[in-house]
Amino acid sequence: MTDIISYDIIIIGSGIAGLRAAISAASEDNKLKIAVISKVQVMRSHSVSAEGGTAAVIQDDDNLESHIYDTIKGSDYLADQDVAELLVKQMPFEIYQLEHWGMPWSRKKEDGRIAQRWFGGYSYPRATYAQDRVGFFEMQTLYDTCLKYENIDFFNEWFCTSILTYYDNSFCGVTAIEMKTGEFIKFKALAGIICTGGAGRIYSFSTYAYSSTPDGLDMAYRAGLALKDMEFVQFHPTGILPSGILITEGARGEGGYLINNKGERFMKKYAPNKLELASRDVVSRGMMKEIDEGRGFKSDGGVDCLKIDLTHLGIEKIQERLGGIREIGIKFSGVDIAEEPIQIRPVCHYMMGGIHTNIDGATEMNGLWAAGEAACNSVHGANRLGANSTGECLVWGNITGKLAARYVLNRRNSGTSSPDIQQQQVIDEEKRIYDGIFRGRGQINPYEARMNLTDTMDSNAHVFRTELGLAEGLKKVRELMKSQWRHVDDTAREYNTNFINVMELDSMFRISEVILLCALNRHESRGAHAMLEYPKRDDANFMKHSLAYFGGPTREGPKTDWFPVTFTHYKPEERHY
Ligand SMILES: Cc1cc2nc3c(=O)[nH]c(=O)nc-3n(C[C@H](O)[C@H](O)[C@H](O)COP(=O)(O)OP(=O)(O)OC[C@H]3O[C@@H](n4cnc5c(N)ncnc54)[C@H](O)[C@@H]3O)c2cc1C
Repeated sequence: MTDIISYDIIIIGSGIAGLRAAISAASEDNKLKIAVISKVQVMRSHSVSAEGGTAAVIQDDDNLESHIYDTIKGSDYLADQDVAELLVKQMPFEIYQLEHWGMPWSRKKEDGRIAQRWFGGYSYPRATYAQDRVGFFEMQTLYDTCLKYENIDFFNEWFCTSILTYYDNSFCGVTAIEMKTGEFIKFKALAGIICTGGAGRIYSFSTYAYSSTPDGLDMAYRAGLALKDMEFVQFHPTGILPSGILITEGARGEGGYLINNKGERFMKKYAPNKLELASRDVVSRGMMKEIDEGRGFKSDGGVDCLKIDLTHLGIEKIQERLGGIREIGIKFSGVDIAEEPIQIRPVCHYMMGGIHTNIDGATEMNGLWAAGEAACNSVHGANRLGANSTGECLVWGNITGKLAARYVLNRRNSGTSSPDIQQQQVIDEEKRIYDGIFRGRGQINPYEARMNLTDTMDSNAHVFRTELGLAEGLKKVRELMKSQWRHVDDTAREYNTNFINVMELDSMFRISEVILLCALNRHESRGAHAMLEYPKRDDANFMKHSLAYFGGPTREGPKTDWFPVTFTHYKPEERHY
């Protein structure tokens, strides 16, 4: 095989965002050649595990204004308001578009129309669902649709390592390893879309797939692009023990209660109106307070936790709407949720931050867009509402796919051909991964280093944060980062997952450093970032997005900056649920 593969558009990632972008680009012009590169098989992308719903205004008595307001309030006013508006206005189209492609949305018994359920932080039950397997069915629908297009090619189990750029700050391709053979390959293209998803595996207790590491964020960061709002990490209230697997918010949406060791529905103290259906940051903080004040249970593994009680919903409703989590409870915690409450605890679930983009998903590099969880177009601000992320993937998959296609068509029409890859960049990348990692030497087991890192993030950058805790976390991560873990014991070329894991770890260190540093810089409590020393939101000083740039390999740390928030007409208020 030649070691340069040419396409018009390269999409990195085959989750909901990547697949939606591929369809959108492919349908702009059937002569465009589109490659979707994924380090896992398509249907193993984390998106398949989305459970509870996708938010959209589709009922006659709902309205767009309410969804926009809920999203902005949920964001603790850090969302760019024009971006939230765009999400909400595009979402009904995406729901029906999926429906037309074959999505089996759950329906209302009375009239057969698409059903919706409650989700946290909303003032209307607008989470559209397909039982509790929304992500699986959305992915299947999108993948099936992709296969109808002859101009989309999939490169499954290919691991991208870097973004290649041309002199004028334009995208010109990526480097990747074909995992099956171990070949190091260059992809050349005029346009790229990063859809590499979230990075929640930098925490030990996490709902994410093991593949959810920050490779894409790190590729962008190393290429000189900013990461935005990285301090905002979402903790979902209900991860089961010991695995962290998610119990969907749909469980509370369908009427589940959270209880402490006194049997109390404690959320009435923290969110008297919305109770368990307040936004996730509010519920997770309420839960951690209960636990910290001694009203938790001890799990079998000795971890403090609370319980979610669904028994009053009855087996029929549970089986019909929450069959997936019933199965998860039985298999992974040995508890049948139809019969007894199940132990849960706040768990790392989503990254509000990501690659800095504008409202269209364009990055700071010409010809490069980002969509889905890897991107930060500022739709979620400091706290995402549940069911708005699959929506974000669909909307910006569609937008970025179209824009990338038009960009390529325009460049073609003006006679521009793909710029040549700069050899020096490829040589530098080979040095970084083969000399620096594959042939590295060291005493420290990289898997132990990884566990130390993720345990540090669990302890030092959790629901409640302190300056001391964050500073200690940062110091520890930097020490670990410098220790001698950069080596690969398995020397095989084919399917060398050891090599892949160590490259993932390399990115996990850099991105964890960014999260800790940005968290330390934000002296306030807003959305998912709750600082004990600064318990209030401080709009006068911190109504702004944080940015972090790579300081270079020999740098002291990331370079940080701030970026303004866009307002339309929603005035910041104190949030009450
Ligand atoms: C358990 C769970 C349940 C959820 N439930 C909901 C829900 O009900 N509603 C909702 O709105 N949101 C939900 N979310 C959030 C939502 O599912 C995700 O934010 C969204 O699916 C992310 O999709 P994505 O397309 O951005 O990326 P992902 O689906 O995470 O896919 C990332 C892709 O990038 C590829 N990739 C990464 N690195 C590389 C590399 N180096 N080289 C090549 N390829 C690479 C991967 O192979 C993969 O294909 C849930 C999340 C979790 C974890």
